[in-house]
Amino acid sequence: MSKYLSGDKAYNFLLDRNVEHLESLFPRGRAKTATKERLPPSASDRDIVEQAWLRQSTIVTADIKDFRPAMVKFQRQQGRRPCGCLFGLIVLPNVYETQKRLLKNRLNDLQARLPSVDGTKPTWSRVHSRNYMVRVKKSGNPHVTKLGLCPDCDPDIETD
Ligand SMILES: [Zn+2]
Repeated sequence: MSKYLSGDKAYNFLLDRNVEHLESLFPRGRAKTATKERLPPSASDRDIVEQAWLRQSTIVTADIKDFRPAMVKFQRQQGRRPCGCLFGLIVLPNVYETQKRLLKNRLNDLQARLPSVDGTKPTWSRVHSRNYMVRVKKSGNPHVTKLGLCPDCDPDIETD
């Protein structure tokens, strides 16, 4: 896992423009928005991925966008010093009422509903440190996918 670059050491979230209106529903002090990070509206997926990497943030977006190709490419291309490990992705359905319901209690309810991965219930800290994708369907059911660490890091090493 890449060493501390800048930003918070603890898990935190970078909100893409399409979900910035949800900032107040995230745990206090843990959410940054693309606007506050000075990413222009024209910022590419790659720009946002790079910012998330620099700030060691889990990207949060709505399901109208797919960051996975940009994340995979970034991890492959970044190299070793520091390595390109990323910090997870949360994909929310693009319906405001559903988003509000999902994020009630500042992500605690949603965390409690995450299905086990390799026999362990994921926490937001683990989503962050292991680069998991949490995708929530309109029904509210979350799915968790391991996006994997960069090619230089052993995914089996516990980092949290
Ligand atoms: Zn790495």
